Amino acid sequence: EVRVRFAPSPTGPLHIGGVRTALYNYLFAKKMGGKFLLRIEDTDQTRFVPGAEEYIKESLDWLGITPDESPWNPGSVGPYRQSERKPDYMQYALDLIEAGHAYYAFDTSAELEAMRERLTAARVVQPQYNSITRMQMKNSLTLSEDEVKERLASGDPYVIRVKIPRKEEVRLNDMIRGWVMVHTSTLDDKVLMKSDGMPTYHLANIVDDHLMGITHVIRGEEWLPSAPLHVLLYKFFGWEDTMPQFAHLPLLLKPDGNGKLSKRDGDKLGFPVFPLNWENKATGETAAGFREQEYLADAFLNFLAFLGWNPGDDREIFSLEELVEAFSVERIGKSGTKFDIAKAKWFNEQYLRAKSNSELAEYIMKDALAEGSEISKELAESIANLTKDRATFPADLWNGSKFIVIAPKTFDMNVADKKWNGDAVKVLSNYAKSIDQYEGTYDAENAKSLLAASAESEGVKLGKVMQAVRLAVTGSGAGPDLMEVFAILGAEEVSKRIQYALD
Ligand code: GLU
Repeated sequence: EVRVRFAPSPTGPLHIGGVRTALYNYLFAKKMGGKFLLRIEDTDQTRFVPGAEEYIKESLDWLGITPDESPWNPGSVGPYRQSERKPDYMQYALDLIEAGHAYYAFDTSAELEAMRERLTAARVVQPQYNSITRMQMKNSLTLSEDEVKERLASGDPYVIRVKIPRKEEVRLNDMIRGWVMVHTSTLDDKVLMKSDGMPTYHLANIVDDHLMGITHVIRGEEWLPSAPLHVLLYKFFGWEDTMPQFAHLPLLLKPDGNGKLSKRDGDKLGFPVFPLNWENKATGETAAGFREQEYLADAFLNFLAFLGWNPGDDREIFSLEELVEAFSVERIGKSGTKFDIAKAKWFNEQYLRAKSNSELAEYIMKDALAEGSEISKELAESIANLTKDRATFPADLWNGSKFIVIAPKTFDMNVADKKWNGDAVKVLSNYAKSIDQYEGTYDAENAKSLLAASAESEGVKLGKVMQAVRLAVTGSGAGPDLMEVFAILGAEEVSKRIQYALD
């Protein structure tokens, strides 16, 4: 059975790249008839941020990609928070020491610093604790057995490091990148257990993926450099046969393609890089989210899916079920994807405009009520019908049409300066009078022929005064189809508004 996991660290709000990783894991799991797990990687207590875990849960729930197993819905391989699995990790580190693949290291930070300085002075580009330098350091490979026992017994602080072999080629066949080969001389003896008794990411991640039966690791490209170490750890533990397959997702780039899209870019670029609004209760720091800016969950999901994947043809609109059906890791690109907010808006428009007038009416009624106008469902539906082709977000529906409900008291003076003239006044006075005398049905068509007749009898070309007419009735120079607006307003209201504008 396919089992994949999303393994975020609760160090702040989930970044849009993280949400995409979660989505691809979800799509792959569902496509393969497998399970999608969520594991909270919270071993680094210093980076823990309150509220971050709830934020992750709410984000995934909003998008409808709720994990099959998680801290909130545990399966049989829990706990699903690494902090709750803490007692287990030490034994795995000790097993590696026993097998000769790891060792105790007692070096103080001053000693480590001195080592780095020595190497830098000797012009070593990347000073590392590795197969060469460890021979000069204080660890269980250089100290006598007795001294190691003594130090451990007396409670000297120590870490456990992995013993990277000196000359070996590590290979892994990434599902997206193909074969990746790394020579162990470029790797360092990473810490596996920290002096506070907590495992590092590397140890906990491998142990948990193994214990949770993970078959495929789908994660961001920033973890590719760690993958050779992970492959070695699987080998050292003797878990090669069940080692997961790796798929490293391409980076999300800034809109101009210049570098990785970072958590701080949201403010600078003027669009959110987080799914939901965020507030750090401890520091007061806040960030904007897509949901609160009225991106629709299914539109945002569709947009996310295309940030690095494509179905191989021109089709772009996919529901979650359709994405599951169409998804394949083979169609994930290798190179970074530019984040294009215009595309996100385009998706939102498509999803918004595909909704029925009755659904859109609910948004309009809610927004109207928030501004003190209670409007009928019937009116809201006609407004929806009239404005949806100009709307990107639900709020655009009401904002683009509230002049229908609330008669303008002020007028756009830029338009007035250019278009308000004697001809306009003549036509409008004539039109108001003829509406008052009119006894037929005042629909869009009749509203228009009446207006045309008024213009003609004043000897004015209708096209010349059309914007002034719009200005008089709506207060601005642009908007939805004016004759449809007139029909919704009704003859009496149109006449009243023209009178007000003329006075
Ligand atoms: N905890 C890591 C993160 O925050 C998980 C990386 C992985 O998937 O292995 O991204």
